[in-house]
Amino acid sequence: MFTHLQPKQYYIDRYDRLTVDECRFAEKSFDKISDKDLGDKVSKEEKERAKNVIRDVYMYTLKGESYADKETMIQKWMNNDKARDEKIENAKPIKGVSCLICNSPMKVFDKELSISEDNEPVMFWYSCTKCGKRRLFYDNGKEYRPKLTKKEMAEIDLNEKIEEPVDENCEADRERFCLTAEEGQQYLESKRSMQRLHELAEEVKNRSEIQEEKEAKIEKINFPEVKSKLIKVFNKYKLTDIQFSQPEIKDSVSVIFTAVLDNEDSIPKIKKLIINHLTNTNWEMKSLEYKLGIVKGLLEGR
Ligand SMILES: [Zn+2]
Repeated sequence: MFTHLQPKQYYIDRYDRLTVDECRFAEKSFDKISDKDLGDKVSKEEKERAKNVIRDVYMYTLKGESYADKETMIQKWMNNDKARDEKIENAKPIKGVSCLICNSPMKVFDKELSISEDNEPVMFWYSCTKCGKRRLFYDNGKEYRPKLTKKEMAEIDLNEKIEEPVDENCEADRERFCLTAEEGQQYLESKRSMQRLHELAEEVKNRSEIQEEKEAKIEKINFPEVKSKLIKVFNKYKLTDIQFSQPEIKDSVSVIFTAVLDNEDSIPKIKKLIINHLTNTNWEMKSLEYKLGIVKGLLEGR
């Protein structure tokens, strides 16, 4: 019985051969780029240089990406083949098949997957115990009736090996195109660095966009306007003897205000209202305290 699952090296070689084919094709495509494709504004040397750079970068990425997918692909192939073997293993042949020529009982002598068909059904080969005539059945009991002559049917060799074409350059090209584990890891590391750099750049860009948006929304008001906003609040809560200090001007403008308030209970409300009034303006209340009937706050404007 044919076993699908092969040693891992078989799949490594298969993958490398595909990589070689893909890279050969890419190289040929680059050879086909003519100078005309690059326009006529640059010199021949510059065109040559540009072509080399593009080709090198492209080939580097192609080889690296092929390496990046290698292990996953190999595992996928191996799992597939393992599942195929299990499917064959678990399939049950129908009983009671007899020879159409001599009516003798037939026995299963081989089973295989019909991988060219959807869902890859299992097929059972029967052979007549007396005359050797063959019949072929699917695992669902349906007979396979090929349009083959009796002779062709009898001559089917299930273990026939298909001759692989000779590829003399494959070894050298594998050297050029299939990265070693070390080279592959280097590629992955540099790819990760590039990604991090890209993410960082995105983050900086987003942050500055958010900042710009915020700044666009901010209402720039001057000190007298802030003062009148505050006085409205103070009047509402019946604060008296309101005083503003001399503004201190540095990078920002700082002003201290004081007022008299009999009852401490309304402090949280006053604080909340002032903050509300200053939201989305270029002013901020840095602190607000209350002691012995005096409210004192610090404002900062930018
Ligand atoms: Zn027979």
